[in-house]
Amino acid sequence: DNKPANNFLHQIVAEDLEAGRVSEVITRFPPEPNGYLHVGHAKSICLNFGMAERFGGQCNLRFDDTNPEKESPEYVASIQEDVRWLGYQWAGEVRYASSYFQQFYDWAVHLVEQGDAYVCDLNAEQAREYRGTLTEPGRNSPFRERSIEDNLDLLARMKAGEFDEGSKVLRAKIDMASPNMNLRDPILYRIRKAVHHQTGSEWCIYPTYDFAHGQEDAIEGVTHSICTLEFEDHRPLYDWLLDHLPVPSRPRQYEFGRLNLNYTVTSKRKLKQLVDEGVVDGWDDPRMPTISGMRRRGFTPAAIRKFCEMIGVTRSDGVVDVAMLEHAIRDDLNDNAPRAMCVLRPLKVVLTDYPEGQVEQLSAPAHPSREDLGSRELPFTRELYIDAGDFLEEANKKFKRLVLGKRVRLRNAYVIEADSAVKDDAGNVIEVHAHTVPNTIGLDPEDGIKPKGVIQWVSASAGRQATVRLYDRLFTDAAPDKGDKDFMTLVNPASLDVVEGAWIEPGLAAAAPEQNFQFEREGYFVADRFEHSESAPVFNMTIGLRDTWNN
Ligand code: ATP
Ligand code: MG
Ligand code: MG
Repeated sequence: DNKPANNFLHQIVAEDLEAGRVSEVITRFPPEPNGYLHVGHAKSICLNFGMAERFGGQCNLRFDDTNPEKESPEYVASIQEDVRWLGYQWAGEVRYASSYFQQFYDWAVHLVEQGDAYVCDLNAEQAREYRGTLTEPGRNSPFRERSIEDNLDLLARMKAGEFDEGSKVLRAKIDMASPNMNLRDPILYRIRKAVHHQTGSEWCIYPTYDFAHGQEDAIEGVTHSICTLEFEDHRPLYDWLLDHLPVPSRPRQYEFGRLNLNYTVTSKRKLKQLVDEGVVDGWDDPRMPTISGMRRRGFTPAAIRKFCEMIGVTRSDGVVDVAMLEHAIRDDLNDNAPRAMCVLRPLKVVLTDYPEGQVEQLSAPAHPSREDLGSRELPFTRELYIDAGDFLEEANKKFKRLVLGKRVRLRNAYVIEADSAVKDDAGNVIEVHAHTVPNTIGLDPEDGIKPKGVIQWVSASAGRQATVRLYDRLFTDAAPDKGDKDFMTLVNPASLDVVEGAWIEPGLAAAAPEQNFQFEREGYFVADRFEHSESAPVFNMTIGLRDTWNN
């Protein structure tokens, strides 16, 4: 394709294929099932699956399930659903690191037999002390010179459950003086007497990330193992393990810059805290930067994929303006979402010249430029609702809406002119009396007095009531998880505004859940995936109309 190259990994893979270093590109997306996926994961998904798609290879979905206490089948299920929803299909069955546990164990035994690993009895605090610091080398553990026989015996007994959690670990024997802390005899196995969602209580020792990841890649024949930059320092260990084990293939690790978005937190742990403390209404709350939250908010897979393409893949971490993500969704919906009318703050208008009981079936295109989207019926009646913000008794010329004695066009319908305002005892306008200007459907008034503006409306007798949920940013701070800020104190207290009595044009009630619309002059909205029904319509605001992204 002719897009500018903004993904350095494309270049690497293309060269590897050309030079014959690999015959097929195999990637993997390796989430730990300890939460729902977020927008950062979307970047990794688009990268890994996109790479396989682009170069005709394959991408595996593999659960990196080596921490049983934090994981659950709910997360396993949601992750698969999110990847599929984004439009990707993994090669073959879903894979689990846990299904390789026996192989990992055999490889641990292999390392011990080679004298490359040992069982260490230092507790966590002692181990930290022995480890040294960035400026000081570490010291060898007093257990480092255990015999191979003793190590084999102790490892077997760790596996058999003879020892308490934390009392022993298996460590690689590398170099306690290495400037890379990850090579200072890293832990390969720890004791965890926990039930695992896939393997039950079969195991009470679990491999660390480092002892699992490269070996998983090797088992699956992964050629390009792509991870975020914080694992750059782990690459020497990744390679060391592959060099010391009889693995069936030789994967390579590459690092890229993680996605950080302003006004957002992208850490499963923090997102879980928002859920657990009830700040939001679940992982898929439309305010959440989770994939399921964005889905419920009305984001489309195409927009998320487009966004990931726009941000590119580089070797540096940066902060992306959330306005760019909003731009991507707005752009997609502008092209594809049918238009409709919704009145959020209803004010009744009575057209005193219009016969009671008369209904005119007006018709309007669903989209200004997409004829393929067809048209919709708009019943026009004597009583209508307009938005309270679209009427003033008196106003200056800048107010291009309805004013007493002035005209406005009702979108897709007549020009009307306001005559009087009905008020309650407190002086609030509760109803406007107006009349139609004849013969103005699609035409200017014959007397030459043109309306100042166009406003949306809904028939009071044929329209439907709906719940409409308006959203603002979840955080008031542009960098809620930077430095020593407590992100929980930066939650926007007004991030949700539920409008119970909005009025929608009648056809909208029959919208399918997850159908997107532009409510004219208001923004983009989606019929709620779970709570919308024809009898009780519920719409979520996706994003406003005004684009704030500066490109
Ligand atoms: P979190 O801190 O949110 O739990 P994680 O990296 O621990 O994130 P994993 O489940 O291990 O979550 O992630 C699966 C894959 O997604 C990894 O390869 C990881 O590098 C990638 N990933 C996670 N967060 C981001 C991000 N913000 N930007 C890009 N890739 C990410
Ligand atoms: Mg991880
Ligand atoms: Mg994590």
